[in-house]
Amino acid sequence: MKKILNYINGEFKAPLQDEWIDNYNPSIGEVYSLIPNSSTADVQNAYEAASQAFPTWSETPLEQRSRILAKIASLITENLEQLAKAEAIDNGKPLSLATSVDIPRASTNFQFFADAITQFSSEAHESTGLNAINFTLRQPIGVVGCISPWNLPLYLFSWKIAPALAAGNTVVAKPSEVTPMTAYLLGDICTKAGLPKGVLNIIHGLGSTAGQAIIEHSGIKAISFTGGTTTGAHIARVAAPMFKKLSLELGGKNPNLIFADCDYDTMLDVTIKSSFANQGQICLCNSRIYIERPIYEKFKKDFIAKTKALKIGSPLDNNTNIGALVSKPHLEKVKSYIDAAEQEGGTILCGGDYVNVKGHENGYYLQPTIIEVNDPNCRLTQEEIFGPVVTIMPFDSDDEALALANNVRYGLSCSIWTNNLNRSMHLAKYIQAGIVWVNTWMMRDLRTAFGGTKDSGVGREGGFEALRFFTEPKNVCIKY
Ligand code: NDP
Repeated sequence: MKKILNYINGEFKAPLQDEWIDNYNPSIGEVYSLIPNSSTADVQNAYEAASQAFPTWSETPLEQRSRILAKIASLITENLEQLAKAEAIDNGKPLSLATSVDIPRASTNFQFFADAITQFSSEAHESTGLNAINFTLRQPIGVVGCISPWNLPLYLFSWKIAPALAAGNTVVAKPSEVTPMTAYLLGDICTKAGLPKGVLNIIHGLGSTAGQAIIEHSGIKAISFTGGTTTGAHIARVAAPMFKKLSLELGGKNPNLIFADCDYDTMLDVTIKSSFANQGQICLCNSRIYIERPIYEKFKKDFIAKTKALKIGSPLDNNTNIGALVSKPHLEKVKSYIDAAEQEGGTILCGGDYVNVKGHENGYYLQPTIIEVNDPNCRLTQEEIFGPVVTIMPFDSDDEALALANNVRYGLSCSIWTNNLNRSMHLAKYIQAGIVWVNTWMMRDLRTAFGGTKDSGVGREGGFEALRFFTEPKNVCIKY
Protein backbone atom coordinates (compact mmCIF):
# COMPACT_ATOMS: atom_id res chain seq x y z
CA MET A 1 0.00 0.00 0.00
CA LYS A 2 1.22 3.49 -0.85
CA LYS A 3 2.90 5.27 2.05
CA ILE A 4 2.81 9.02 2.40
CA LEU A 5 5.98 10.40 4.01
CA ASN A 6 6.95 13.42 6.05
CA TYR A 7 8.92 16.13 4.23
CA ILE A 8 11.74 17.23 6.52
CA ASN A 9 14.85 19.18 5.51
CA GLY A 10 13.96 18.65 1.85
CA GLU A 11 13.79 14.88 2.17
CA PHE A 12 10.97 12.39 2.44
CA LYS A 13 11.13 10.55 5.75
CA ALA A 14 9.19 7.77 7.44
CA PRO A 15 8.04 8.54 11.00
CA LEU A 16 10.74 7.68 13.56
CA GLN A 17 8.50 5.26 15.44
CA ASP A 18 7.40 3.59 12.18
CA GLU A 19 3.72 3.96 13.11
CA TRP A 20 1.12 4.54 10.41
CA ILE A 21 -2.50 5.68 10.12
CA ASP A 22 -5.04 4.45 7.57
CA ASN A 23 -6.01 6.98 4.92
CA TYR A 24 -9.49 6.40 3.46
CA ASN A 25 -10.87 7.10 0.04
CA PRO A 26 -14.29 8.42 1.13
CA SER A 27 -15.95 7.75 -2.21
CA ILE A 28 -15.55 3.98 -1.74
CA GLY A 29 -15.02 3.79 2.02
CA GLU A 30 -11.72 1.93 1.71
CA VAL A 31 -8.18 2.49 2.95
CA TYR A 32 -5.97 3.39 0.00
CA SER A 33 -2.79 4.71 1.60
CA LEU A 34 -0.97 4.99 4.91
CA ILE A 35 0.21 8.18 6.52
CA PRO A 36 2.86 8.73 9.20
CA ASN A 37 1.59 8.79 12.76
CA SER A 38 4.25 11.35 13.61
CA SER A 39 5.42 11.90 17.16
CA THR A 40 6.98 14.78 19.08
CA ALA A 41 10.40 13.53 17.88
CA ASP A 42 9.41 13.96 14.21
CA VAL A 43 8.15 17.47 14.95
CA GLN A 44 11.42 18.19 16.74
CA ASN A 45 13.38 17.11 13.64
CA ALA A 46 11.19 19.34 11.48
CA TYR A 47 11.71 22.21 13.91
CA GLU A 48 15.50 21.78 13.88
CA ALA A 49 15.58 21.77 10.07
CA ALA A 50 13.40 24.90 9.98
CA SER A 51 15.50 26.57 12.63
CA GLN A 52 18.74 25.92 10.73
CA ALA A 53 17.23 27.16 7.47
CA PHE A 54 15.90 30.39 8.98
CA PRO A 55 19.00 32.66 9.01
CA THR A 56 19.68 32.14 5.30
CA TRP A 57 16.05 32.19 4.13
CA SER A 58 15.22 35.31 6.12
CA GLU A 59 18.19 37.09 4.49
CA THR A 60 17.43 35.82 0.99
CA PRO A 61 16.67 38.82 -1.26
CA LEU A 62 12.95 39.37 -1.85
CA GLU A 63 13.25 38.91 -5.59
CA GLN A 64 14.75 35.46 -5.10
CA ARG A 65 12.11 34.38 -2.57
CA SER A 66 9.46 35.73 -4.88
CA ARG A 67 10.88 33.81 -7.87
CA ILE A 68 10.87 30.52 -5.95
CA LEU A 69 7.27 31.01 -4.78
CA ALA A 70 6.21 31.89 -8.33
CA LYS A 71 7.92 28.71 -9.54
CA ILE A 72 5.93 26.67 -6.99
CA ALA A 73 2.78 28.35 -8.34
CA SER A 74 3.61 27.44 -11.92
CA LEU A 75 4.52 23.83 -11.02
CA ILE A 76 1.16 23.46 -9.25
CA THR A 77 -0.52 24.61 -12.46
CA GLU A 78 1.60 22.24 -14.56
CA ASN A 79 0.51 19.37 -12.29
CA LEU A 80 -3.13 20.47 -12.11
CA GLU A 81 -4.55 17.21 -13.37
CA GLN A 82 -2.60 14.98 -10.98
CA LEU A 83 -3.23 17.25 -7.97
CA ALA A 84 -6.94 17.67 -8.68
CA LYS A 85 -7.42 13.92 -8.99
CA ALA A 86 -5.48 13.33 -5.79
CA GLU A 87 -7.63 15.91 -3.97
CA ALA A 88 -10.90 14.42 -5.26
CA ILE A 89 -9.89 10.91 -4.21
CA ASP A 90 -8.56 11.97 -0.81
CA ASN A 91 -11.42 14.30 0.12
CA GLY A 92 -14.45 13.02 -1.82
CA LYS A 93 -15.08 16.36 -3.54
CA PRO A 94 -16.10 16.43 -7.22
CA LEU A 95 -13.07 16.34 -9.52
CA SER A 96 -14.63 19.25 -11.44
CA LEU A 97 -14.49 21.37 -8.26
CA ALA A 98 -10.91 20.39 -7.44
CA THR A 99 -9.93 21.17 -11.05
CA SER A 100 -11.72 24.51 -11.28
CA VAL A 101 -11.33 25.82 -7.71
CA ASP A 102 -9.05 24.01 -5.23
CA ILE A 103 -5.87 23.52 -7.24
CA PRO A 104 -5.98 26.75 -9.30
CA ARG A 105 -6.46 28.64 -6.04
CA ALA A 106 -3.50 26.86 -4.41
CA SER A 107 -1.37 28.05 -7.33
CA THR A 108 -2.83 31.56 -7.07
CA ASN A 109 -2.02 31.66 -3.35
CA PHE A 110 1.68 31.16 -4.08
CA GLN A 111 1.68 33.56 -7.03
CA PHE A 112 -0.27 36.19 -5.06
CA PHE A 113 2.21 36.21 -2.15
CA ALA A 114 5.19 35.98 -4.55
CA ASP A 115 3.93 39.32 -5.89
CA ALA A 116 2.62 40.81 -2.63
CA ILE A 117 5.96 40.52 -0.82
CA THR A 118 7.61 42.73 -3.45
CA GLN A 119 5.00 45.43 -2.73
CA PHE A 120 4.97 45.13 1.07
CA SER A 121 6.62 48.10 2.76
CA SER A 122 6.57 49.60 6.20
CA GLU A 123 5.89 53.04 7.60
CA ALA A 124 8.16 55.94 8.51
CA HIS A 125 7.08 58.87 10.70
CA GLU A 126 8.87 62.12 11.19
CA SER A 127 8.45 63.32 14.79
CA THR A 128 7.93 66.94 13.89
CA GLY A 129 9.65 69.43 16.18
CA LEU A 130 11.73 66.75 17.92
CA ASN A 131 14.35 66.25 15.23
CA ALA A 132 13.66 62.54 15.13
CA ILE A 133 12.53 60.02 12.62
CA ASN A 134 10.79 56.74 13.35
CA PHE A 135 10.59 53.84 11.02
CA THR A 136 9.26 50.33 11.34
CA LEU A 137 11.22 47.21 10.54
CA ARG A 138 8.96 44.32 9.56
CA GLN A 139 11.03 41.26 10.45
CA PRO A 140 10.16 37.60 9.93
CA ILE A 141 9.24 35.86 13.16
CA GLY A 142 11.36 32.71 12.84
CA VAL A 143 9.95 29.20 12.75
CA VAL A 144 6.15 29.30 12.45
CA GLY A 145 3.49 26.58 12.59
CA CYS A 146 0.72 26.23 9.99
CA ILE A 147 -2.14 23.82 10.71
CA SER A 148 -4.98 23.34 8.24
CA PRO A 149 -8.26 21.39 7.95
CA TRP A 150 -9.59 18.77 5.51
CA ASN A 151 -12.31 20.63 3.64
CA LEU A 152 -10.14 22.59 1.17
CA PRO A 153 -6.86 20.75 1.71
CA LEU A 154 -4.21 22.26 -0.60
CA TYR A 155 -6.18 25.51 -0.96
CA LEU A 156 -6.00 26.29 2.78
CA PHE A 157 -2.58 24.71 3.37
CA SER A 158 -1.04 27.00 0.74
CA TRP A 159 -3.06 30.00 1.98
CA LYS A 160 -0.94 29.86 5.15
CA ILE A 161 2.37 28.57 3.89
CA ALA A 162 2.74 31.03 1.00
CA PRO A 163 2.61 34.25 3.10
CA ALA A 164 4.69 32.67 5.88
CA LEU A 165 7.48 31.82 3.42
CA ALA A 166 7.14 35.07 1.48
CA ALA A 167 7.70 37.04 4.68
CA GLY A 168 10.95 35.14 5.34
CA ASN A 169 9.86 32.64 7.96
CA THR A 170 10.57 28.94 7.89
CA VAL A 171 7.66 26.60 8.46
CA VAL A 172 6.57 23.44 10.21
CA ALA A 173 3.19 22.60 8.69
CA LYS A 174 0.59 19.93 9.31
CA PRO A 175 -2.32 19.18 6.99
CA SER A 176 -5.36 17.34 8.30
CA GLU A 177 -4.70 13.69 8.90
CA VAL A 178 -7.89 12.99 6.92
CA THR A 179 -6.62 14.64 3.70
CA PRO A 180 -2.80 14.47 3.58
CA MET A 181 -2.25 13.61 -0.10
CA THR A 182 -1.83 16.96 -1.85
CA ALA A 183 0.33 18.32 0.99
CA TYR A 184 2.56 15.28 0.44
CA LEU A 185 2.74 16.01 -3.31
CA LEU A 186 3.58 19.64 -2.56
CA GLY A 187 6.90 18.56 -1.00
CA ASP A 188 8.21 17.32 -4.33
CA ILE A 189 7.00 20.47 -6.08
CA CYS A 190 8.87 22.64 -3.56
CA THR A 191 12.08 20.68 -4.12
CA LYS A 192 11.72 21.03 -7.90
CA ALA A 193 11.05 24.77 -7.51
CA GLY A 194 14.38 25.15 -5.70
CA LEU A 195 13.02 25.91 -2.23
CA PRO A 196 16.08 25.46 0.01
CA LYS A 197 16.14 22.49 2.38
CA GLY A 198 14.40 22.99 5.70
CA VAL A 199 12.49 26.13 4.68
CA LEU A 200 9.22 24.17 4.54
CA ASN A 201 8.72 21.01 6.58
CA ILE A 202 5.51 18.99 6.32
CA ILE A 203 4.55 16.68 9.14
CA HIS A 204 1.67 14.22 8.88
CA GLY A 205 -0.24 12.75 11.77
CA LEU A 206 -2.94 13.21 14.34
CA GLY A 207 -3.96 16.60 15.63
CA SER A 208 -3.77 15.35 19.18
CA THR A 209 -0.12 14.24 18.86
CA ALA A 210 1.69 15.82 15.87
CA GLY A 211 -0.50 18.96 15.93
CA GLN A 212 -0.18 19.19 19.69
CA ALA A 213 3.64 18.92 19.45
CA ILE A 214 3.66 21.89 17.06
CA ILE A 215 1.51 24.14 19.25
CA GLU A 216 3.42 23.14 22.40
CA HIS A 217 6.88 23.71 20.90
CA SER A 218 8.47 26.67 22.64
CA GLY A 219 10.61 27.49 19.59
CA ILE A 220 7.64 27.86 17.24
CA LYS A 221 6.70 31.47 17.80
CA ALA A 222 3.51 31.84 15.77
CA ILE A 223 0.66 29.53 14.86
CA SER A 224 -1.68 30.04 11.94
CA PHE A 225 -4.58 27.64 12.40
CA THR A 226 -7.75 26.95 10.43
CA GLY A 227 -10.17 24.44 11.84
CA GLY A 228 -12.93 23.94 14.37
CA THR A 229 -13.77 26.39 17.16
CA THR A 230 -13.17 23.83 19.92
CA THR A 231 -9.69 23.04 18.59
CA GLY A 232 -9.02 26.78 18.22
CA ALA A 233 -9.92 27.39 21.86
CA HIS A 234 -7.60 24.56 22.90
CA ILE A 235 -4.74 25.99 20.83
CA ALA A 236 -5.29 29.44 22.36
CA ARG A 237 -5.07 27.94 25.86
CA VAL A 238 -1.83 26.07 25.08
CA ALA A 239 -0.20 28.97 23.24
CA ALA A 240 -1.15 31.84 25.57
CA PRO A 241 1.40 31.18 28.35
CA MET A 242 4.16 31.12 25.71
CA PHE A 243 2.87 34.40 24.19
CA LYS A 244 2.76 32.94 20.71
CA LYS A 245 1.29 35.02 17.95
CA LEU A 246 -1.98 33.39 16.89
CA SER A 247 -4.22 33.58 13.86
CA LEU A 248 -7.33 31.45 14.34
CA GLU A 249 -9.78 30.92 11.47
CA LEU A 250 -12.58 28.87 13.00
CA GLY A 251 -16.11 27.63 12.45
CA GLY A 252 -19.10 29.40 10.97
CA LYS A 253 -22.89 29.30 10.84
CA ASN A 254 -23.43 31.86 8.17
CA PRO A 255 -26.75 33.52 7.34
CA ASN A 256 -28.15 34.02 3.85
CA LEU A 257 -30.63 36.93 3.98
CA ILE A 258 -32.92 36.94 0.95
CA PHE A 259 -35.17 39.96 0.36
CA ALA A 260 -38.16 40.06 -1.99
CA ASP A 261 -36.56 42.78 -4.16
CA CYS A 262 -33.48 40.72 -5.07
CA ASP A 263 -32.42 39.54 -8.50
CA TYR A 264 -34.25 36.25 -7.96
CA ASP A 265 -32.70 33.93 -10.56
CA THR A 266 -29.12 34.87 -9.73
CA MET A 267 -29.89 34.54 -6.03
CA LEU A 268 -31.34 31.04 -6.54
CA ASP A 269 -28.36 29.82 -8.59
CA VAL A 270 -25.83 31.17 -6.10
CA THR A 271 -27.84 29.95 -3.10
CA ILE A 272 -27.60 26.38 -4.40
CA LYS A 273 -23.80 26.79 -4.42
CA SER A 274 -23.57 28.58 -1.08
CA SER A 275 -25.64 25.78 0.47
CA PHE A 276 -24.17 22.64 -1.05
CA ALA A 277 -20.81 23.32 -2.75
CA ASN A 278 -18.17 20.85 -1.55
CA GLN A 279 -21.02 18.90 0.15
CA GLY A 280 -21.63 21.96 2.34
CA GLN A 281 -18.17 21.53 3.87
CA ILE A 282 -16.90 25.09 3.38
CA CYS A 283 -16.61 27.35 6.41
CA LEU A 284 -18.21 30.08 4.26
CA CYS A 285 -21.28 28.04 3.29
CA ASN A 286 -24.53 29.80 4.14
CA SER A 287 -26.29 27.18 6.21
CA ARG A 288 -29.04 29.41 7.69
CA ILE A 289 -31.31 30.78 4.98
CA TYR A 290 -33.80 33.50 5.95
CA ILE A 291 -36.31 34.61 3.30
CA GLU A 292 -38.61 37.64 3.28
CA ARG A 293 -42.16 36.36 3.64
CA PRO A 294 -43.68 37.56 0.31
CA ILE A 295 -41.34 35.25 -1.65
CA TYR A 296 -41.01 32.50 0.95
CA GLU A 297 -43.34 29.93 -0.66
CA LYS A 298 -41.99 30.55 -4.17
CA PHE A 299 -38.40 30.26 -2.93
CA LYS A 300 -39.22 27.07 -1.04
CA LYS A 301 -40.67 25.42 -4.14
CA ASP A 302 -37.87 26.50 -6.50
CA PHE A 303 -35.07 25.76 -4.04
CA ILE A 304 -36.37 22.24 -3.39
CA ALA A 305 -36.68 21.58 -7.14
CA LYS A 306 -33.11 22.76 -7.83
CA THR A 307 -31.72 20.82 -4.89
CA LYS A 308 -33.42 17.62 -6.03
CA ALA A 309 -31.84 18.07 -9.47
CA LEU A 310 -28.29 17.94 -8.04
CA LYS A 311 -26.48 14.79 -9.07
CA ILE A 312 -24.89 12.83 -6.24
CA GLY A 313 -22.16 10.44 -7.32
CA SER A 314 -18.55 9.45 -7.64
CA PRO A 315 -16.20 12.44 -7.33
CA LEU A 316 -14.46 11.32 -10.52
CA ASP A 317 -17.67 11.39 -12.60
CA ASN A 318 -17.83 14.62 -14.61
CA ASN A 319 -21.56 15.03 -14.01
CA THR A 320 -21.32 14.86 -10.22
CA ASN A 321 -22.48 17.93 -8.28
CA ILE A 322 -22.32 16.36 -4.83
CA GLY A 323 -19.51 13.94 -4.00
CA ALA A 324 -18.81 12.02 -0.81
CA LEU A 325 -18.46 13.49 2.67
CA VAL A 326 -14.92 13.41 3.96
CA SER A 327 -15.07 10.55 6.48
CA LYS A 328 -17.41 8.07 8.10
CA PRO A 329 -17.40 9.78 11.52
CA HIS A 330 -18.19 13.10 9.83
CA LEU A 331 -20.97 11.53 7.74
CA GLU A 332 -22.52 10.14 10.90
CA LYS A 333 -22.20 13.43 12.73
CA VAL A 334 -24.00 15.29 9.92
CA LYS A 335 -26.70 12.59 9.72
CA SER A 336 -27.28 12.83 13.47
CA TYR A 337 -28.40 16.45 13.02
CA ILE A 338 -30.85 15.39 10.31
CA ASP A 339 -32.16 12.68 12.62
CA ALA A 340 -32.69 15.27 15.34
CA ALA A 341 -34.63 17.58 13.00
CA GLU A 342 -38.12 16.62 14.14
CA GLN A 343 -37.20 16.74 17.80
CA GLU A 344 -35.87 20.28 17.20
CA GLY A 345 -39.21 21.32 15.64
CA GLY A 346 -37.91 21.11 12.06
CA THR A 347 -39.52 19.60 8.96
CA ILE A 348 -37.33 17.90 6.36
CA LEU A 349 -38.45 19.32 3.01
CA CYS A 350 -36.06 17.33 0.86
CA GLY A 351 -33.14 14.93 1.23
CA GLY A 352 -32.30 13.56 4.65
CA ASP A 353 -30.99 10.13 3.70
CA TYR A 354 -27.80 8.31 2.89
CA VAL A 355 -27.27 7.62 -0.82
CA ASN A 356 -26.24 4.31 -2.28
CA VAL A 357 -24.06 5.12 -5.28
CA LYS A 358 -23.83 2.17 -7.67
CA GLY A 359 -20.38 0.59 -7.55
CA HIS A 360 -19.51 2.75 -4.52
CA GLU A 361 -21.83 1.15 -1.97
CA ASN A 362 -19.52 1.82 1.00
CA GLY A 363 -18.89 5.48 0.12
CA TYR A 364 -19.98 8.31 2.42
CA TYR A 365 -22.81 9.86 0.43
CA LEU A 366 -25.64 11.97 1.80
CA GLN A 367 -28.54 13.72 0.07
CA PRO A 368 -28.50 17.52 0.11
CA THR A 369 -31.05 18.35 2.78
CA ILE A 370 -33.35 21.31 3.40
CA ILE A 371 -35.00 21.63 6.80
CA GLU A 372 -37.75 24.17 7.51
CA VAL A 373 -37.44 25.49 11.06
CA ASN A 374 -39.54 27.77 13.23
CA ASP A 375 -37.21 28.23 16.17
CA PRO A 376 -34.06 30.31 15.50
CA ASN A 377 -32.58 28.97 18.73
CA CYS A 378 -32.83 25.27 17.89
CA ARG A 379 -29.64 23.22 17.53
CA LEU A 380 -30.02 23.05 13.75
CA THR A 381 -29.67 26.83 13.46
CA GLN A 382 -27.15 27.27 16.28
CA GLU A 383 -24.57 24.51 15.79
CA GLU A 384 -22.17 24.12 12.90
CA ILE A 385 -23.23 21.00 10.99
CA PHE A 386 -20.63 21.41 8.20
CA GLY A 387 -22.40 19.21 5.68
CA PRO A 388 -25.04 19.42 2.92
CA VAL A 389 -27.75 20.55 5.34
CA VAL A 390 -29.44 23.98 5.43
CA THR A 391 -32.33 25.43 7.37
CA ILE A 392 -34.91 27.83 5.95
CA MET A 393 -37.22 30.23 7.77
CA PRO A 394 -39.25 33.34 6.78
CA PHE A 395 -38.84 36.87 8.19
CA ASP A 396 -40.99 40.01 8.04
CA SER A 397 -38.73 43.04 8.47
CA ASP A 398 -35.15 44.28 8.11
CA ASP A 399 -34.78 44.43 11.87
CA GLU A 400 -35.91 40.85 12.25
CA ALA A 401 -33.50 39.72 9.50
CA LEU A 402 -30.62 41.48 11.27
CA ALA A 403 -31.54 39.99 14.64
CA LEU A 404 -31.74 36.50 13.12
CA ALA A 405 -28.40 36.93 11.34
CA ASN A 406 -26.66 37.92 14.57
CA ASN A 407 -28.36 35.31 16.73
CA VAL A 408 -25.43 32.85 16.80
CA ARG A 409 -22.08 32.52 18.57
CA TYR A 410 -20.31 32.58 15.20
CA GLY A 411 -19.46 35.57 13.00
CA LEU A 412 -17.60 34.48 9.89
CA SER A 413 -19.54 35.61 6.82
CA CYS A 414 -22.97 36.53 5.50
CA SER A 415 -24.79 37.03 2.19
CA ILE A 416 -27.50 39.67 1.67
CA TRP A 417 -29.70 39.57 -1.42
CA THR A 418 -31.42 42.90 -2.13
CA ASN A 419 -31.39 45.68 -4.70
CA ASN A 420 -31.98 48.30 -2.01
CA LEU A 421 -28.67 50.11 -1.46
CA ASN A 422 -29.72 51.71 1.83
CA ARG A 423 -30.78 48.36 3.24
CA SER A 424 -27.58 46.58 2.19
CA MET A 425 -25.42 49.38 3.62
CA HIS A 426 -27.33 49.37 6.91
CA LEU A 427 -27.19 45.60 7.28
CA ALA A 428 -23.52 45.40 6.23
CA LYS A 429 -22.70 47.85 9.00
CA TYR A 430 -24.53 46.02 11.79
CA ILE A 431 -24.05 42.38 10.86
CA GLN A 432 -21.57 40.69 13.18
CA ALA A 433 -19.29 38.98 10.67
CA GLY A 434 -15.81 39.34 9.19
CA ILE A 435 -17.09 39.22 5.61
CA VAL A 436 -20.37 40.50 4.14
CA TRP A 437 -21.33 39.68 0.55
CA VAL A 438 -24.08 41.69 -1.09
CA ASN A 439 -25.74 39.95 -4.05
CA THR A 440 -22.99 37.34 -4.23
CA TRP A 441 -21.18 34.63 -2.27
CA MET A 442 -17.56 33.58 -1.91
CA MET A 443 -16.31 36.17 -4.36
CA ARG A 444 -12.73 36.51 -3.20
CA ASP A 445 -10.19 39.21 -3.90
CA LEU A 446 -7.02 38.00 -2.20
CA ARG A 447 -6.04 41.53 -1.17
CA THR A 448 -8.96 41.73 1.27
CA ALA A 449 -8.83 40.86 4.95
CA PHE A 450 -10.22 37.39 5.60
CA GLY A 451 -11.43 36.08 8.95
CA GLY A 452 -14.18 36.00 11.49
CA THR A 453 -15.47 37.65 14.64
CA LYS A 454 -17.05 36.12 17.77
CA ASP A 455 -16.41 32.35 17.94
CA SER A 456 -15.29 32.29 14.29
CA GLY A 457 -11.80 33.34 15.27
CA VAL A 458 -9.27 36.07 15.88
CA GLY A 459 -6.93 37.77 13.46
CA ARG A 460 -7.16 38.24 9.73
CA GLU A 461 -5.46 36.57 6.82
CA GLY A 462 -5.24 37.65 3.20
CA GLY A 463 -3.25 40.35 1.44
CA PHE A 464 -0.98 42.48 3.59
CA GLU A 465 -2.88 41.30 6.71
CA ALA A 466 -1.21 37.90 6.30
CA LEU A 467 2.21 39.51 5.78
CA ARG A 468 1.65 41.63 8.88
CA PHE A 469 0.75 38.52 10.86
CA PHE A 470 3.87 36.69 9.72
CA THR A 471 6.20 39.59 10.59
CA GLU A 472 7.12 41.32 13.82
CA PRO A 473 7.05 45.12 13.65
CA LYS A 474 9.99 46.84 15.31
CA ASN A 475 10.09 50.58 15.84
CA VAL A 476 13.44 52.30 15.28
CA CYS A 477 13.69 55.91 16.45
CA ILE A 478 16.65 58.05 15.32
CA LYS A 479 17.31 61.45 16.80
CA TYR A 480 19.31 63.77 14.60
P1 NDP B 1 -10.23 20.42 13.39
O1 NDP B 1 -10.24 21.57 14.31
O2 NDP B 1 -10.66 19.10 13.90
O3 NDP B 1 -8.80 20.20 12.76
C1 NDP B 1 -8.09 21.20 12.06
C2 NDP B 1 -6.62 20.87 12.09
O4 NDP B 1 -6.15 20.93 13.43
C3 NDP B 1 -6.30 19.45 11.61
O5 NDP B 1 -5.05 19.45 10.95
C4 NDP B 1 -6.22 18.70 12.91
O6 NDP B 1 -5.53 17.49 12.79
C5 NDP B 1 -5.52 19.71 13.78
N1 NDP B 1 -5.65 19.51 15.21
C6 NDP B 1 -6.59 18.84 15.91
N2 NDP B 1 -6.31 18.86 17.24
C7 NDP B 1 -5.16 19.57 17.39
C8 NDP B 1 -4.35 19.93 18.51
N3 NDP B 1 -4.64 19.55 19.77
N4 NDP B 1 -3.25 20.66 18.28
C9 NDP B 1 -2.91 21.05 17.04
N5 NDP B 1 -3.61 20.70 15.94
C10 NDP B 1 -4.74 19.98 16.11
O7 NDP B 1 -11.12 20.88 12.15
P2 NDP B 1 -11.52 20.01 10.90
O8 NDP B 1 -10.31 19.48 10.21
O9 NDP B 1 -12.59 19.08 11.32
O10 NDP B 1 -12.10 21.13 9.93
C11 NDP B 1 -13.41 21.58 9.97
C12 NDP B 1 -13.52 22.87 10.74
O11 NDP B 1 -12.69 23.86 10.15
C13 NDP B 1 -14.91 23.45 10.70
O12 NDP B 1 -15.28 23.90 11.97
C14 NDP B 1 -14.78 24.63 9.75
O13 NDP B 1 -15.73 25.63 9.95
C15 NDP B 1 -13.41 25.09 10.03
N6 NDP B 1 -12.90 25.87 8.92
C16 NDP B 1 -12.75 27.23 9.09
C17 NDP B 1 -12.34 28.03 8.04
C18 NDP B 1 -12.12 29.50 8.22
O14 NDP B 1 -11.43 30.09 7.39
N7 NDP B 1 -12.64 30.14 9.25
C19 NDP B 1 -12.08 27.46 6.71
C20 NDP B 1 -12.26 26.03 6.65
C21 NDP B 1 -12.66 25.28 7.74
P3 NDP B 1 -6.35 16.12 12.53
O15 NDP B 1 -7.17 16.33 11.32
O16 NDP B 1 -5.28 15.14 12.35
O17 NDP B 1 -7.17 15.92 13.76
